[in-house]
Amino acid sequence: MKHLIVAISLLVTACGPSPLVLTSPSPVVTSLGASPSAEPSASPSPTPSPSPTFEKDPADDLGAPVGTAPVKPRITDAQLAVQAQAIVEAIALPKGFPYRIQLYDAAGPYHAAFGGFDSGTAVLLLSRDSVRSNIVVHEYGHAWHERFMGYDSAIWLEYGKVRGYTDQLRLAQNADNYLDDWRERFAVDFQWAFNPDYGGKLMPSDGYWSPVQLAAFRQFVISLPVRAATR
Ligand SMILES: [Zn+2]
Repeated sequence: MKHLIVAISLLVTACGPSPLVLTSPSPVVTSLGASPSAEPSASPSPTPSPSPTFEKDPADDLGAPVGTAPVKPRITDAQLAVQAQAIVEAIALPKGFPYRIQLYDAAGPYHAAFGGFDSGTAVLLLSRDSVRSNIVVHEYGHAWHERFMGYDSAIWLEYGKVRGYTDQLRLAQNADNYLDDWRERFAVDFQWAFNPDYGGKLMPSDGYWSPVQLAAFRQFVISLPVRAATR
């Protein structure tokens, strides 16, 4: 699997106009008519203010040849939002927090991001060309760790132990190697472990993790909401 995703900080306000908001659990579609305003660092939080996690080309996770995708007719924002919500709802985890899908036209290579929590609602920022399960599930994974792990180094080190990491814990983006940020590793793992499209059939390349590690990671993720509630 290639990891061509490069994480570079970029203001959310650089995203295109006319975002569309789909609120869970009642899919009410609203056109805001303004640039996305989900500035991740603007939300008050008891934990250190997170830096945004922007994605570049996660479709490469699927190994699809570049330039061979068939051209599809453009579908409406309402359809895209429904598709994105259906992907999230199909993830085999309880939806322990509200979320919303915010669509935009990609500015440059930055096609998706986790926009932080806005008054308790996770904001999944998706460019209109990025409503695909690998991208949506990845961003939802960011929401999951943000909500249930925060920046508690003890629980992040527990995640590292599950995955056998020996390098220093890092919870900030690095333009040189986005996987230096353990939050990105978690989101990549989350996508492979919980993408409902894969159904256990499409897995990362050999050596990514063992069946034991995959099971341990899934169990770790499932345990997080319960543990967060008792901390
Ligand atoms: Zn990410």
